[in-house]
Amino acid sequence: MAYKIKIDQACCIGCGSCVAICPEIFELKDDGKSHLKKEEIENPGCAQQAVEACPASCIAIGK
Ligand code: SF4
Repeated sequence: MAYKIKIDQACCIGCGSCVAICPEIFELKDDGKSHLKKEEIENPGCAQQAVEACPASCIAIGK
């Protein structure tokens, strides 16, 4: 079953931690916010680490 990732854009402070941890899923764009390269993943993997590392708790993984 695939997992769905969401970023709360209003809460993202653009620190770049998620991009550093999981560049295949997250990228910083010109608006200074993290954006998803893909919204569904087969395994939480580094995206789960990004959830835990986000200082503003903006990332969520659900099913
Ligand atoms: S770790 Fe959180 S606050 Fe930092 S860029 Fe990623 S989503 Fe934004």
